[in-house]
Amino acid sequence: MNTLLQPFQISHTGLVWNNHFQRLGPDFYTALAPQGMPAPYWVGRSLAVAEMLGLPAGQLQSDALLQALAGNQPISGSQPLASVYSGHQFGHWAGQLGDGRACLLGEVNGLEVQLKGSGLTPYSRMGDGRAVLRSSIREFLCSEAMHALGIPTTRALCVVGSDEEVARESLETAAVVTRVATSFIRFGHFEHFAARNQIAQLKTLADYVIARYYPDCQSASLLAANPYANLLMQVTERTAVMVAHWQAVGFCHGVMNTDNMSMLGLTIDYGPFQFLDAYDPGHICNHTDRGGRYAFDRQPDIAHWNLYALAQALMPLIEDQALALQALDTFKSVFERTWLQLMCAKLGLTGNGAGTDIDHTLLQDLLALLAQDRVDYTLFWRRLSQAVASQQFAPVRDLFLDTAAWDAWLLRYAERLVGENQNQAAALMLKTNPKYVLRNYLGELAIEAAKGKDFSMVANLLTLLERPFDEHPAFETYAGLPPDWASRIEISCSS
Ligand code: AMP
Ligand code: MG
Repeated sequence: MNTLLQPFQISHTGLVWNNHFQRLGPDFYTALAPQGMPAPYWVGRSLAVAEMLGLPAGQLQSDALLQALAGNQPISGSQPLASVYSGHQFGHWAGQLGDGRACLLGEVNGLEVQLKGSGLTPYSRMGDGRAVLRSSIREFLCSEAMHALGIPTTRALCVVGSDEEVARESLETAAVVTRVATSFIRFGHFEHFAARNQIAQLKTLADYVIARYYPDCQSASLLAANPYANLLMQVTERTAVMVAHWQAVGFCHGVMNTDNMSMLGLTIDYGPFQFLDAYDPGHICNHTDRGGRYAFDRQPDIAHWNLYALAQALMPLIEDQALALQALDTFKSVFERTWLQLMCAKLGLTGNGAGTDIDHTLLQDLLALLAQDRVDYTLFWRRLSQAVASQQFAPVRDLFLDTAAWDAWLLRYAERLVGENQNQAAALMLKTNPKYVLRNYLGELAIEAAKGKDFSMVANLLTLLERPFDEHPAFETYAGLPPDWASRIEISCSS
């Protein structure tokens, strides 16, 4: 082991820290301490993530940890740094970006721990290095919600708030999210060095990512005896799987810039995201995205576009355009296969012959119906699951305007279900189609309460979203249709 980097004990939590990223050297980051916030308080905490990190029981109650995660106390053993990356934003090259308000503390239990909103860094550009309470609560809850839905994502340990004022469209208050992931490396980290023609650094980074996260890429049995083409292929596959999950659950990310794309295929950088209410394939959830570049139904193509940007960055290492194109080509087949599998599971179809052209057509026709009547996406799937379990289809029918078209589709579906074990189908559907998702309006209610220092709704939502497939009878209203005002919520890039 590098003697400069012995894992350290953190005195007040008992955590053992390490930091492999830090060993890449100063071309990749700037070492700095997080900036503190006055009088911090807990806003939300995840016991599950605490356990994953091996935080001793009770630490999430401790003032020492609160102060540390607010940036007020150095954490012995951590080696805080802000990494540098670049990227394409809304399809245009944006040049250098970097961790403008995030600070990697190091690794605990093999997981990187990062503070988001922890103050100015050399990459803050025009920003203030802060994150507001509102967006921090959204990121915290959504990270944990996505994980519980089985979708690859960064995680969140907690949100710490402060009354420190932060100026956005109006005055808001600051907060810090403690995020956790196997790695926070983005496509943009590679684009950064490629754009500067720093090929040695590009190779160092690629070799690091391969050695730590994609050891299979060394093997010639993948695409070719070219570890960098293999890396591109594996990132392509993971990204395709991630986006297939988004489309199946009705998640719209909102800012799929290449600096927000994870090299591990994790959903990262929760900003103006939205779980669809009414099903509208062209839905644009980011108020700043006037052209609809990141509309719901464009997400697969945009992910593929982003992978082309990554491929371009990796070309000096891959050195073989045909091979790079072959790696990128896996996107379509992996996406379509995964999407079809996920959607068939939503219909309870898993038996022999699931996922044929017949199922594909059945699904496309259903989605067209949902779109035509702007049916609530989450509610539809949950009611359908309950209907298959109870054989009472009226509550599903109630969601449609064109009931004749629904009846005709249901007939085809019923015929298709004959070949399946109905009990198994219903059971599968009830653990595939969530009862609870983080609808925008639920987030807004929790945020409004939190602004008044009532954090109970953040805690309640976390409890629901950690078990989204369970019935939670006390919270039945959160599983219903959103109120009218929900459609008027405008979420922008401002965070
Ligand atoms: P995002 O749109 O959140 O993915 O951020 C894009 C870039 O802007 C990243 O480099 C962020 O670190 C940076 N950034 C966003 N908000 C701020 C802020 N308030 N202060 C400093 N940098 C920021
Ligand atoms: Mg970002």
